[in-house]
Amino acid sequence: MPAKRTFVKTKQPTSVVTGGAGFLGSHLTDLLLERGHRVIAIDNLVTGAVKNIAHLAGNSQFKFINQDVTEYIYLDEPVQYVWHFASPASPIDYLEIPIKTLKVGSLGTHKALGLAKAKGARFLIASTSEIYGDPLVHPQREEYWGNVNTIGPRSCYDEAKRFGEALTMAYHREHGVEVRIVRIFNTYGPRMRLNDGRVVPAFISQALQNKPLTVFGEGNQTRSFCYCSDLIAGIYRLMNSSVDEPVNIGNPHEMTVLEFAKEIIQATGSRSKIVFKALPQDDPKQRRPDITRARTRLKWEPKVSLQEGLIKTIDHFRGRL
Ligand code: NAD
Ligand code: UDP
Repeated sequence: MPAKRTFVKTKQPTSVVTGGAGFLGSHLTDLLLERGHRVIAIDNLVTGAVKNIAHLAGNSQFKFINQDVTEYIYLDEPVQYVWHFASPASPIDYLEIPIKTLKVGSLGTHKALGLAKAKGARFLIASTSEIYGDPLVHPQREEYWGNVNTIGPRSCYDEAKRFGEALTMAYHREHGVEVRIVRIFNTYGPRMRLNDGRVVPAFISQALQNKPLTVFGEGNQTRSFCYCSDLIAGIYRLMNSSVDEPVNIGNPHEMTVLEFAKEIIQATGSRSKIVFKALPQDDPKQRRPDITRARTRLKWEPKVSLQEGLIKTIDHFRGRL
């Protein structure tokens, strides 16, 4: 058994957020600053954007490092928490850069874990519901091992995240690093890229321009959408808990993609029609988190309804179009 690393809580902790200029990483950064952390965001901007963190310019508690996390991460200061969020997350992003996606999930996770080990920091990896693949168990519990096509087009993401979880547990077992694994289910909100291809920005931007909403397949596949502030609150609780098993964080309110398209048309007051396009290969047919573990061990559950979350997100996208 390895010696357990001593994790020391300090008055003003320093957090490293990889992927800190992305959608979720930037919301996490905001929450950490609010809670009194110093934050060092590391991001190479491959799918993120400086505008997500522009409001933090001049904040003495915040530092941005433009770096690819697959390269050695050198920091000359103590760090208490490493939040590893760097990775393309939208299917169209990771289908375009599959090798970079595999590299950030493997080599990038290795570097981020190495940083946590060197600093005696607690490490959290942003894993995903995609590790369950096209699930044969519904809703998905953490005990389910998944159904992933290892050679399909989505495997660059799914397998990188599965490897990332395995490496995280290996650092825990072999080096005694304190680890947390969050499996994030579809999350949406302000700061998603309008053109990132995920269904929420895709449908909202189409609806706001009265263009047809592109439903893939017959729209029978299901997803469960979580608002970003709920997700970040759950992840913050997980980091501060003693739970070192994976935890699903997401909203269990499940709907079909076709129902979701109709909801967006209604919420935006759009004149858009719906058109049906080919279903991408290996698109999961159903997805809903079982959040019993988060409810019982973290005392967390989502609070923001789909209607409320959509109003905030639509307002944000209206301002950007
Ligand atoms: P995003 O694309 O907005 O953010 C990812 C960030 O990582 C971007 O800023 C990008 O530039 C950065 N990045 C990518 N590769 C990098 C590298 N090699 N070096 C440094 N930075 C790099 O996506 P997001 O939705 O904010 O996702 C954040 C994390 O959460 C990802 O790890 C993703 O897998 C995970 N996740 C998100 C969702 C969701 O619904 N949003 C669901 C499951 C998992
Ligand atoms: N989808 C769709 N139209 C779009 C974009 C996505 O019907 O313009 C579907 C997609 O096929 C999937 C669901 O919406 O079934 C969610 O897709 P997203 O890319 O947001 O994330 P995923 O859950 O597949 O990772």
